[in-house]
Amino acid sequence: METILVSACLRGVPCRFDGRHKASPASQEAVAGRAVVPFCPEVAGGLTTPRRPAELVGGDGHDVLDGTARVVEDTGRDVTEQFVAGARRALAAARRGGCTQALLMPRSPSCGRGTVYDGTFTGSAVPGDGVTAALLERNGITVRAAPGV
Ligand code: SF4
Repeated sequence: METILVSACLRGVPCRFDGRHKASPASQEAVAGRAVVPFCPEVAGGLTTPRRPAELVGGDGHDVLDGTARVVEDTGRDVTEQFVAGARRALAAARRGGCTQALLMPRSPSCGRGTVYDGTFTGSAVPGDGVTAALLERNGITVRAAPGV
């Protein structure tokens, strides 16, 4: 059976910054028939739940991996190190689980694929990938944004 890495919050784990989850019928259907490896890179990187919201500043997840952008909380605290650590652990989990694909939560600074919040904490999104999405893609894993969330 094919195995897919999925954002843990899409699987009903209450690991979002606000202590909630984002499970939806559409994201369940999107992985039907596959074995799922649920993973939350922000928690794996050492952040608490609940936690302050964080967004990308100065670029997207690829720029963070290249050292030219950062991830900061709305308080101004720099959490780049935790986001990069979590991305590395997500890649390790994907490899351990034999995942060649991932289905991730849209717009998140870690899991976002294709669009991410723009760093203004206003709910606006811009084109780009989160840190984990970028690292998985760079390592040959096909990443899709979950539908319907
Ligand atoms: Fe964790 Fe990713 Fe969901 Fe954020 S979007 S709570 S980092 S699994």
